[in-house]
Amino acid sequence: MLRRLMMALAAVLSLSSSLVAQKVPTPREHLGFDIGEDRVLANWDALTSYYEELGKTSQRVLVDTLGLTTMGRPFVMLTITSPANLARLDEIRDMQLRLADPRRISDRAELERLLDQGKTIVLITQGIHATEVGASQMSANLAYELATSDDPRILEILDNVVVLQIPSLNPDGLQWVADWYDEHVDTEFEASPLPWLYQFYTGHDNNRDWYAFTQKETILTVERAHNAWHPQIVHDVHQMGAYGARIFVPPYVEPWEPNVDPALVTAVTQMGTYMAAELTAEGKKGVVFSGIYDAFTPARAYMHYHGGARILSETASATLATPVTIPQRRLSAGRNYDAARRSWNFPDPWPGGDWHLSDIVEYQEAGALALLTNAAKNRRYWLENFYGINKRAVDKWDEWPDAWIIPAGQQNDEGISYALRSLTMGDVEVYRAQSGFSVDNLSFPAGSYVIPMRQPYASFANTLLQVQHYPDLRQYPGGPPQRPYDVTAHTLGYLMDFEAVAVDGEIDAPMEGPISQSDFEFHLPAHLVGPDAPKVAIYKSWQEPIAAGWQRWVFDQHALPYDTLHDADIRAGELADYDVLILQAQSARSIVDGFRPGQVPPEYVGGLGERGTSQIRSFVQRGGRLVAVEDATDFAVQLLGLGVRDATSGLDDTEFYIPGSILRAELSPGSDVTEGLDPETAVWFWGSSRAFAVDDPRVRVLARYGFGDPLLSGWALGGEHLSGAPAILEAQVGAGSVVLFGFQPNYRAQSVGTWPLLFNSMRR
Ligand SMILES: [Zn+2]
Repeated sequence: MLRRLMMALAAVLSLSSSLVAQKVPTPREHLGFDIGEDRVLANWDALTSYYEELGKTSQRVLVDTLGLTTMGRPFVMLTITSPANLARLDEIRDMQLRLADPRRISDRAELERLLDQGKTIVLITQGIHATEVGASQMSANLAYELATSDDPRILEILDNVVVLQIPSLNPDGLQWVADWYDEHVDTEFEASPLPWLYQFYTGHDNNRDWYAFTQKETILTVERAHNAWHPQIVHDVHQMGAYGARIFVPPYVEPWEPNVDPALVTAVTQMGTYMAAELTAEGKKGVVFSGIYDAFTPARAYMHYHGGARILSETASATLATPVTIPQRRLSAGRNYDAARRSWNFPDPWPGGDWHLSDIVEYQEAGALALLTNAAKNRRYWLENFYGINKRAVDKWDEWPDAWIIPAGQQNDEGISYALRSLTMGDVEVYRAQSGFSVDNLSFPAGSYVIPMRQPYASFANTLLQVQHYPDLRQYPGGPPQRPYDVTAHTLGYLMDFEAVAVDGEIDAPMEGPISQSDFEFHLPAHLVGPDAPKVAIYKSWQEPIAAGWQRWVFDQHALPYDTLHDADIRAGELADYDVLILQAQSARSIVDGFRPGQVPPEYVGGLGERGTSQIRSFVQRGGRLVAVEDATDFAVQLLGLGVRDATSGLDDTEFYIPGSILRAELSPGSDVTEGLDPETAVWFWGSSRAFAVDDPRVRVLARYGFGDPLLSGWALGGEHLSGAPAILEAQVGAGSVVLFGFQPNYRAQSVGTWPLLFNSMRR
């Protein structure tokens, strides 16, 4: 508050901004090197100290620590705009929140005032994927430019736009990657990969958390940036492979998720093509748009359900900060374009050559400035379009039901509490009926949750509660599937095992609410708690798969005790102390061989090897229980010599392809793994999942994929190949046993419905 008062005072005294600008240090003055220099990365400690300095010296920059990251580092947001705007920031934010909820606007005159006086709110998020190093470096240059330049283009931006800049969405990963690189630069391991996940639990999946909201960084961004401001534009700055276009900007390719407002689709398209036009006009070669990336899953696009345009940019990578040389003949094709050929959506091919971190930083900064220029010049359009999107939601789309009901009395408070947390954290208004009621010829008991669809973020509720029908897109008619960029299903009711019903008509019942944000409550099964609980070991490879990270998160979240065993621990015989060993989804090759010599420093080379493998075999023979998930089941089958094979191996993707969909499965009774569960359940299936074929009397089938085509939500080509195929197996081996999961029982910490299967499999 004091700072704002002082800034207001400074504005009143009309201190010349150029006079103040002289005191603002350049990144070079503060860090000791230029951003983008070959073989140099600023780490998070250095960057945060720079942002603190910017906040102290610039009248245009406000620096806030929104909270702490997973590993306890500061999570920072810069608010950058003109000093006059900073002095009335609360008023600007209030205007924005009124435009976000048209129910709060009393008449046309008020709307006119908001459209006239409001500012375009732009959130720029950088560096979520920590090995895509450019964005978090570029952020210092961009902030400096905005903080100091008196160029008319920058002043126009500052007058018309409030820039919210999160210079790293993953500070822990930035610190790890920069320090790892710094430790190995100028050695033979300069280009070696970080041998652990660059977000502690979720690795690269950290940008697929935008409706489950599991990680601290996600929660801070949603609560303190998205929901606090509801920005019209969100610019998410990434990097892609080295051998294609130099930079991607929207439009995205098909499909768009059908609950995104058409005027948001066109807003994304106009912004992306504007950026492409500016970049190309500046002489930047290799700009592609309308290629590569689709816009289907809300897991990557919170803003598309909250009135905001998601403007992804993806710039070609170097090797961290080490330059690469790409010969023209190595340039390759991607979806909807070919980097070696000129086309309407790739009009100026890059000819190949050297590619430096400085090129990445320069392209990204030019992209961000083009975006901000559009946001400034078209301020009124962005505000009016934002209002229009929210107004149509409040008036309800014809395609939407009048309400969604989550009936009371479903015996699954845990799954429902997870879903309610997602909805309410996503600013959806949820009510609770205080009496029973009938609507649409259906009766619901008192205590049922009601989500009326005439509200600003109804699209978020609709996409999460309805079933997905992903379009059957092929590369050419009758050809292989056009691969989705991410998964194709996100139906919370299936993932979290509850029923949600779409109804039309008036609901006549007293309502309590909107309910406040509820916490997710999950109780561990009794056999995992207390002195008789099994001793659990989790295998942690130096190539740890993301699925293992998500599993650690679930275990930590529920205080489930376990120990982490690395390859060397298992080779040294430490398994003898444990009852259960879990191998999450990982290929047999990666488990056994790990990194090759020369790829990483020697202490991270190799996997379990022969020695570790035989330790696991004797662990099972002596009475241990091995639990293996998805492709790690290949390893377990080989290890124990089971008569089990992958039933769909040999089918090509025109015959069989399930890219992240939810399937029906049937659980067999009479096993302690399936005990207490509904015999009909929904399971998660994707590329690393397995359907088994069994020819071994020792093996019991504990679950099968549904008969016929088991697809419930998403997309499945040749789903009937799974008809009735075994999905969970159990076998006695020696004095011990093994449980094989063909599907992923813990899909991104969301599939609460199948968690009990995983927990039940963890027994002595
Ligand atoms: Zn990325």
